[in-house]
Amino acid sequence: MKVFYDEGYVASAHDFPTTRKSGQIAEAVRDGRVPGAVIVDPSAFLAAAEAGIAAIHDRDYLDALRVGEPRCLAEGNGFDWDPGIWTMARHSTAGVVAAVEAAMVDGVSGSLSSGLHHARPGGGEGFCTVNGLVVAARHAAELVDGRIVILDVDAHCGGGTAEIIGHDRQILHLDLSTSSFDSYRPTGDDQLVVVGPSDDEGYLHELDLMLGRIPDDAGLVLVNAGMDPHPGIAVGTLVERERRIADALAERGVPAAFVLAGGYLHGITEAELVDLHLLTVAAFAEAGASRPCSTVMCAV
Ligand SMILES: [Zn+2]
Repeated sequence: MKVFYDEGYVASAHDFPTTRKSGQIAEAVRDGRVPGAVIVDPSAFLAAAEAGIAAIHDRDYLDALRVGEPRCLAEGNGFDWDPGIWTMARHSTAGVVAAVEAAMVDGVSGSLSSGLHHARPGGGEGFCTVNGLVVAARHAAELVDGRIVILDVDAHCGGGTAEIIGHDRQILHLDLSTSSFDSYRPTGDDQLVVVGPSDDEGYLHELDLMLGRIPDDAGLVLVNAGMDPHPGIAVGTLVERERRIADALAERGVPAAFVLAGGYLHGITEAELVDLHLLTVAAFAEAGASRPCSTVMCAV
């Protein structure tokens, strides 16, 4: 399974889990900690990523990300601005686009990207700079006939994603959260469910219901696999979450791509945070290896 990452993901000078953890996770994958997963450079997709970013974000905001002025706009994501912020945004978005393309061929893929779903057309928010989820979903919509599903299981609500996709019915937004931060009113078939921050049983119950809402005509599922429901939600529950998601998508033969999303050092060490995100990589790699011959390339 291809997992996309390059040095551009950590180009920001601001030191924070969102801007650093992908490098540590890539190192763990390169060390062979996830059988079947290989790190791949996404830079061939930089041009596609930039075009996609320009299509969903305001020009004033993107100019601010490039040059750092006006500073309040350039730092809406909550980070101190430096030129590496724009590099990070472009490369981590290229990775999501690359993962979509790889998932269409291989069935599963992922990108070690974070900081996506709170970004709005006019600015960053909540450690999110540009909305690579919507860029990748729109890219996928050009490649397949079916609906593109954004399954967001990060602790926080994806209000930025909801605002950008608006009434675009080719993208279905399913959002399971444990915090009401960035909540919104879903439209159409979109769904937002917020469960209690330590309701493990309710969390898995709602996850199962949400997986059941993935339509038969889904052409690709993009999973925003935040690990920030922990520590409220137990590690064992997140192990189960990743297994159920990866297995459900593999059984249905729908191409699936994941990104890391949230995951912070609240009561856990850097090593423990890496371990949490490796749960996602491992679940998708394992489910991908056991996929029936029903993915795009081998369907005849
Ligand atoms: Zn979050």
